[in-house]
Amino acid sequence: MTPFHRQSGSLHCNDLSLSSLAEQFGTPLYVYNRTAIETAWQEFSDALQDRKHLICYAVKANSNLAVLDTLARLGSGFDIVSLGELKRVLAAGGKPEKIVFSGVGKTTQEMESALEVGIRCFNVESDSELSRLADVAAAHGTVAPVSLRINPDVDAKTHPYISTGLKENKFGISMADAMDCYRRGAESNHLALRGIDCHIGSQLMHLEPYADAVKLLVEMVDRLSAEGIHLSHIDVGGGQGIQYSAHDSTLDITSWAQCVKDAVGQRPLEIMVEPGRYIVGQAGVLLTRVEYLKSNEGRHFAVVDAAMNDLIRPALYDAWQAIETVETLDREPRLYDVVGPVCESADFLGKQRTLAIAEHDLLCVRSAGAYAFVMSSNYNTRPRAAEVMVDGDSAHLARAREQATDLFADEFLLP
Ligand SMILES: *Cc1c(COP(=O)(O)O)cnc(C)c1O
Repeated sequence: MTPFHRQSGSLHCNDLSLSSLAEQFGTPLYVYNRTAIETAWQEFSDALQDRKHLICYAVKANSNLAVLDTLARLGSGFDIVSLGELKRVLAAGGKPEKIVFSGVGKTTQEMESALEVGIRCFNVESDSELSRLADVAAAHGTVAPVSLRINPDVDAKTHPYISTGLKENKFGISMADAMDCYRRGAESNHLALRGIDCHIGSQLMHLEPYADAVKLLVEMVDRLSAEGIHLSHIDVGGGQGIQYSAHDSTLDITSWAQCVKDAVGQRPLEIMVEPGRYIVGQAGVLLTRVEYLKSNEGRHFAVVDAAMNDLIRPALYDAWQAIETVETLDREPRLYDVVGPVCESADFLGKQRTLAIAEHDLLCVRSAGAYAFVMSSNYNTRPRAAEVMVDGDSAHLARAREQATDLFADEFLLP
């Protein structure tokens, strides 16, 4: 199934034309396909069905309540990185006992709230965090379930900004320090050592980095076990890559799962996984309308109504996302830089794209379900876009478009 397809020349989501959605909800507009989210989640579920496992969707990839609701109804777990995300997951019907809490900077307040609701596990990233968590649990007369996030120092072969498993990255506990950290954890009456985890980067296309990382983790599980510290789960993180362009390779989830299972072998460990991008990336698009066409000394620009505040991936990571016209119309094809109205030269959605367009035409930016709306801002006092979830043949507003007055409603004039 393709989440978005062309039907007599015009892009559709299921049987709804994207043009009609843009008419109804305005632009810029994010559109998500519920079935595509479910299908991607099911790939993990099928690939791991022969093992005890838990899929914890990485909420930061797309935290809209309708997306979380869709996944909660499938029985998904969630990987959160803040108290805000915890509140979202609970509001969307996610189960606390299926939540893992990642991140290098959990505050005391975040630990307290997560302990109160009874989350599944804290993925602890440093020795200091482990001590803090033990203190917080002790103060509340409870025991915190813990996994240590290991930094296995493997090269995920991805963009430096989204590589997280190298020793120069801020994430995780080094292999050298981890054993001692576990030993200290084992001495505390307020920590329950449950697992081991890693997350080596995002947009990974190769199996080898996963194989290498999981192998290092299970060796540590064995060494711990020999010392009487028995873990019950291994969490291999997320990072599964998606195909943004036809030049990208693909990552097959069945092969990925096989590689993880091979590395785990017959050890009785529950396998946990934290996919974000793979679940939602291809399930979303950003619709934007062409405001102006202009040329400077032979370079052509399409100025559109979406900008870097709506989609920052091109500016931040030099990311490439496909841009297509929604309707196939008879126009002269030209090479365009597709740019927004924000006062920054980094404000582009795509450069040197062949497009056959006129002013007021509608464009579709593909693969915009992950790290897209969630990274949007109000720079230039631009209200954030609306989000729509297409479910079968109906479209539901998943987030209303902001109004400019909302943006300064919490600001004050001087007395
Ligand atoms: C961001 C993140 C993920 C999800 O990464 P994707 O590349 O979106 O799959 C999983 N786990 C942790 C700890 C993360 O920080």
